Amino acid sequence: MNHAAEPIHSSISGGFLRHYMDIIADKALPYQWQVISGQRGPNPTVNNFRIAAGEVKGEFGGVPYQDTDLSKWLDAVGCALRNRRDASLEAIADAVIETIANAQDADGYLDTYYQLVRPNEKWTDPDSHELYCFGHMIEAGVAYWEGTGKTRLLEVACRMADHVCRVFGPEAGQLHGYRGHEIIEMALCRLFRATGETRYRDTAVWFVHARRDTPEQFYQATRKEGNPLDYGCWGWGDPERETSSYEHVTGHAVRAMYLYAGMADVAQLTGDEALLAHCRELLDEVTRRQMYITGGIGTTSVLEAYTYPYDLPNDTMYAETCASIGLCFFAHRMLMMQPDGELSDVIERCIYNILPAAIAQDGQHYFYVNPLQVNEEACRRDPLKTHVKPVRQAWYECACCPPNLARFFSSLPRYTATVQEGRLWLHLYAQGCTSFKLGGANITVAQHTDYPMEGRVRITVATDKPTAFALMLRIPGWCRRFWIDGRPGSSGMLSRGYLAIERNWSGETVLTLEMDMTPYMMQAHPRVREDSGKIVLTRGPVVYCCEEADNGALVEDLRASASAPIEQTWQNDVPGFGEYVGLSVPGKASSAAALAEERLYFPVEMSARNVTVKAIPYCLWGERVPGEMTVWIGRL
Ligand SMILES: [Zn+2]
Repeated sequence: MNHAAEPIHSSISGGFLRHYMDIIADKALPYQWQVISGQRGPNPTVNNFRIAAGEVKGEFGGVPYQDTDLSKWLDAVGCALRNRRDASLEAIADAVIETIANAQDADGYLDTYYQLVRPNEKWTDPDSHELYCFGHMIEAGVAYWEGTGKTRLLEVACRMADHVCRVFGPEAGQLHGYRGHEIIEMALCRLFRATGETRYRDTAVWFVHARRDTPEQFYQATRKEGNPLDYGCWGWGDPERETSSYEHVTGHAVRAMYLYAGMADVAQLTGDEALLAHCRELLDEVTRRQMYITGGIGTTSVLEAYTYPYDLPNDTMYAETCASIGLCFFAHRMLMMQPDGELSDVIERCIYNILPAAIAQDGQHYFYVNPLQVNEEACRRDPLKTHVKPVRQAWYECACCPPNLARFFSSLPRYTATVQEGRLWLHLYAQGCTSFKLGGANITVAQHTDYPMEGRVRITVATDKPTAFALMLRIPGWCRRFWIDGRPGSSGMLSRGYLAIERNWSGETVLTLEMDMTPYMMQAHPRVREDSGKIVLTRGPVVYCCEEADNGALVEDLRASASAPIEQTWQNDVPGFGEYVGLSVPGKASSAAALAEERLYFPVEMSARNVTVKAIPYCLWGERVPGEMTVWIGRL
């Protein structure tokens, strides 16, 4: 077992991101354990493992991928314990890991649905979630080992991975394909990095390349006659489409992101430049043509899929929380190979907008679907919008998102900085510290900031030995003016979105980066028909929305003056969040006479009410009084 430490360690100790990490550690993880262990009402997740382990008698309950609610929770606990030890949480996890180990078959197989319900049908349904369950448990094994140093779950994971490596591959007697729900590619790569066992890497490579090299074998069994659920999402070796004629990302948004992230892992581990280039095409296709301004992806609830470029409806979309987590996985892997501010911008868009919006301040309520426009009656009465919830829910029957959000937020420190090309790249600004070794020197880079509430970041570089290297500061894509130690910077100074500070560092050096946080308005590409004539209020990376609580009903009737200055006020009305910046701008809304009209249609009215359009960060929508919400509003 290779126990080599990562060459870099980052922590987040305060500010916005730490706030959400603390919600997860202090509130969400204890709550989620109570839910999945059945303490808050019937929930079969943990019980399924207890039955499979022979600890209790009973029948399997829940959905075929029910196991992943527990494996994702353990993944999150592992990541959270890495940030901060918590003896009671660790004791709960250790105990359930014993149950999991006892539930595993002697040959490494572990999927309680098949073990308890269809024991003679393992690996017979290519559309099953077996590989999804395997992949998540393998990821949990690595995360728990990284967080605690304990190997019990990692050993379970290795036995599962060994099983997969035996069952799947190009040899006679092995299965040559299985569609399922992707994640095994990422999981095997992660396990290879943790253990150094090359068969895990090789099988991950096979899973990716088999789609391209032997697509008929890989997909054949899944293209069943009359199968209504074609989640095709590969864009890579799809047998109905040559790779070279690839045009657009298609299919199930979460599966696509998980596959692409696995492809990026394989590209990194094998040095496959063609695969890397293809991954970049796919990422650009998603983020430049099919991503919401909040970081949401997945345009339609039908098969939870993408549709076509620039199709971004605000009220019928899917925008599943897991899909944006997958997008961060993908963008981060690409960033590790090729530092590029556009990739960090994508991650930042997700972590300050859609992802914090998906969890309430109490850590006990969640969004699965993340709309940009909501009214409660539509959710209730429009059959096309019943998947959209106007308030965060305590749990879901398909509860993929809550524990996935927990593991993602708990792992945020690893997104902040990387050492590449002998340089330190700061990708995210957050109160905290990064330490690494370079040329025999121990170096720490501390950030002192309240970003994104404020644009000032004080960076302290400390080294125990004089060392020359470049500190690469990301200047976000939204940032139009910035200053380094009070001197104005310009876009001409940037390379791929980063500003290089080359020095021979010694002792302690303090730098100050100041980013202009003046609020501004954004518009969509004219091809986004849904947003035609509309604007969004933004401040730094934070996207704002207008709520009924501040503006009254009919928030979509608001029109903001594009020429007036945007006012900022500090507000403190979201319990548990603390102070945030609210925005307001002069605008118009329909006159009282228009509102009183009994006719459905009438000549254009000449008068309109003067109103103040008020907006709050999108991530805080629905935290006060439930009501209407819209991100996009009319432009005067
Ligand atoms: Zn989900």
